[in-house]
Amino acid sequence: MKHLLTLLFLFAAGRSLYAQDLPAAKNIVRQLTSKPMWGRGYTNQGMAKAADFIISEFRSFGLKPMDGKDFKQVFSFPVNTFPGKMHVSVDGNKLIPGKDFIVMPESTGKKTMGSLRQMDSVTFADPGQRLMVQLKDKLTWSVAKQQEDYTGVQIDKKSILGAPKNIEMNIENSFVAQFSTANICAIVKGSKIPDSIIVISAHYDHLGGMGSETYFPGANDNASGIAFLLSLAKYYAAHPQAYSIAFICFTGEEAGLVGSKYFTEHPLIPLEQIRFLINVDMVGTGEGGITVVNATLHAKEFALLNKINDDNKYLSKINPRGKAANSDHYFFTEKGVPAFFIYTMGGISAYHDVFDVAATLPFTEYNDLFKLFVAFNKELMK
Ligand SMILES: [Zn+2]
Repeated sequence: MKHLLTLLFLFAAGRSLYAQDLPAAKNIVRQLTSKPMWGRGYTNQGMAKAADFIISEFRSFGLKPMDGKDFKQVFSFPVNTFPGKMHVSVDGNKLIPGKDFIVMPESTGKKTMGSLRQMDSVTFADPGQRLMVQLKDKLTWSVAKQQEDYTGVQIDKKSILGAPKNIEMNIENSFVAQFSTANICAIVKGSKIPDSIIVISAHYDHLGGMGSETYFPGANDNASGIAFLLSLAKYYAAHPQAYSIAFICFTGEEAGLVGSKYFTEHPLIPLEQIRFLINVDMVGTGEGGITVVNATLHAKEFALLNKINDDNKYLSKINPRGKAANSDHYFFTEKGVPAFFIYTMGGISAYHDVFDVAATLPFTEYNDLFKLFVAFNKELMK
């Protein structure tokens, strides 16, 4: 009986280690995509609120600041923002921001009406007023670090009838020359070889708000990655390893890998002490497995990852990919730091649009991915 109880206890403890991760992760994604965080961008203090939330999570798990003093690595960069009015009508029909149209991120604000001339099959313009309209099958927003002297909108073809002739707009913009923000950097010191470091990274910023009524929640991109990173941070804070395990939540990824570039130029740990860095960006799906960027660069580690996966049957597929400058691992790779960038495949197709929401994020392979990471990191420390 006693043995049975012990077994039951061990079973329950083992289960809770992993089974509790998913509800906690879903909760984190809900919070990071909530209205107050305003798409973790450049208006309404959205990004700063997300940063504070991450720091409070790190603190509650018992992690320490990477530099021993402050979780924040503060710096600034220029960015074009849209804090206010965002009204566009075409031929008398009012369009819905985010759903029917997006403003080109480099646009200057303007309140005007104009008539449009067709420039090519998808582009229309009022050259005198420097207004531009592009028709699109899918709207994909982004962030600009500069401001141009024209005002452009992209319109979902399905939201208007035929070629646009007249446009009316009232768009407010604010160019911020020095937007202050921070990478959030934490560490769990290694018990045996603390100057060998495994780094887990993910960007916490997203596109933010487009006008005063619309924000881009960024559930998969990259609330999912931050939730995943925080699960690992909680686990490693409770289970210190031989090596140090460091965590970096990058800012400014959507503005062009700004935060990770800054970190590699002002590293808080010696880059040569990083045994391996794993960056996660969009890990909320998984029915198609995962893709590993830099797989061909680090064949030994990629084989190790596959062996663990095959032995345990975690993910349906691990797709190898070569070098790519598509997320925050990139500048580390350029500096010679061994790194993978991992994202999940399949599931929802929302990307950089208002439909990337918590409610439809499937978290298909969340627990398997967690177990794969823990096992992989363990092997790296051998
Ligand atoms: Zn991303």
